[in-house]
Amino acid sequence: MAKGKTTFDEAKCKGCGLCVAFCPTKILVLDPKRMNQHGYQLITITDPDKCIGCAFCAIMCPDSVITVERIDHE
Ligand code: SF4
Ligand code: SF4
Repeated sequence: MAKGKTTFDEAKCKGCGLCVAFCPTKILVLDPKRMNQHGYQLITITDPDKCIGCAFCAIMCPDSVITVERIDHE
């Protein structure tokens, strides 16, 4: 099963929540306790082990905040 590792360029995030809405495994949440220097809420990954590396989050993000590294297991 493929897995993924996501990296967020947090300074560029605008807290729009599109990545949260489109993640099929529902592991992304807007975290009210964290914000960037522009005052936007940041994303927290609730369960990184469940990321399947689909990159829907990165494709949907209008500000190119997210990089997804796909890790394929035999
Ligand atoms: S790569 Fe896919 S599973 Fe992983 S966080 Fe992004 S949308 Fe969710
Ligand atoms: S889609 Fe991009 S800008 Fe919007 S909340 Fe997610 S990471 Fe931030």
